[in-house]
Amino acid sequence: MPTTVNAYAAKEVSRPLEPFNFQRRDTGPNDIKIDILFCGVCHSDLHQVRDEWGGSIFPMVPGHEIVGRILQVGDKVTNFQVGELAGIGCFVDSCRSCPSCQAGEEQYCEKGMTGTYNSYERGTKNPTYGGYSTQIVVDEKYALHISDKLPLERVAPLLCAGITTYSPLRHWNVGNGQKVGIVGLGGLGHMGVKFAASFGAEVTVLSTSPSKENDALELGAHHFAVTKDREQMKKLRGEFDFILNTISAQHDYNDYLQLLKTNGTMVVVGIPPTPSTVMAGIVIGNRRSLAGSMIGGIRETQEMLTYCAEHNITSDVEVIDISNINTAYERMLKNDVRYRFVIDIASLKK
Ligand SMILES: [Zn+2]
Ligand SMILES: [Zn+2]
Repeated sequence: MPTTVNAYAAKEVSRPLEPFNFQRRDTGPNDIKIDILFCGVCHSDLHQVRDEWGGSIFPMVPGHEIVGRILQVGDKVTNFQVGELAGIGCFVDSCRSCPSCQAGEEQYCEKGMTGTYNSYERGTKNPTYGGYSTQIVVDEKYALHISDKLPLERVAPLLCAGITTYSPLRHWNVGNGQKVGIVGLGGLGHMGVKFAASFGAEVTVLSTSPSKENDALELGAHHFAVTKDREQMKKLRGEFDFILNTISAQHDYNDYLQLLKTNGTMVVVGIPPTPSTVMAGIVIGNRRSLAGSMIGGIRETQEMLTYCAEHNITSDVEVIDISNINTAYERMLKNDVRYRFVIDIASLKK
């Protein structure tokens, strides 16, 4: 039987989130049903509620950093059992047959991945609803195993912020002996610092806020630079093998490309609202590369979660009740969070 669940939704574009009920589909043969315990609050939740990327579907139940405990499994489920922990990230389905899906990089599905929310279940007009809700039903192929060794509220943000930073660092083989710049110290940046340092790199945080220096060093960075300080930025020219640029506000890519060594790469994971002009001379001169990266596939996300459990890596979080979600959004717009809000879904079950 489909189950009616409690949730919070934006009923129209840019409306404050409010209580909402909807039905989750019946648990199919390949599905697992998860009792959601925590859900992280990602900047993309805010972008989509405000329809900043276009095409938003309302009412919208955001949330794609989901951890919980399995309540029910379908007859054909082989990889999960009732009572185990499970996680859901940014997508819940994909075409399963294109080269990207075959390669385990479902996030680049050529037919488009099915988002955990603000999307439609494949081949239907049923909207997908995310983790600001008490339960979710998902095909086991798109679920992750979660270790019981780590605090769950700190694990939730790994499902988006974690994999978004882990995947490019792995893809470009960042590690021992390399100098890495992390641009921006927010939800993404703070995870980038933890992973890059854990992989053995020498990490510098580049931030507009001098007040973040202590945090940066505590998170594992070795150096800190204030990007508004032209002298500091000049000294860092040609410094880095790799830069992970997490900024989603308008900025000039050239300022950071210049900080790369010969053959260095800058990967962008934030989406500024308008294009940035790249000076050809800056990339030609030292054979520098500018690249992008989007979350990670199921296999790599599982690898990251296992790595985090082994190395005790989690997100720094502020746990909130669902009733505080609109205030949390306002604070996120001011970058007033260290470093991720996570909703305690118990507050939706009262
Ligand atoms: Zn996200
Ligand atoms: Zn595909």
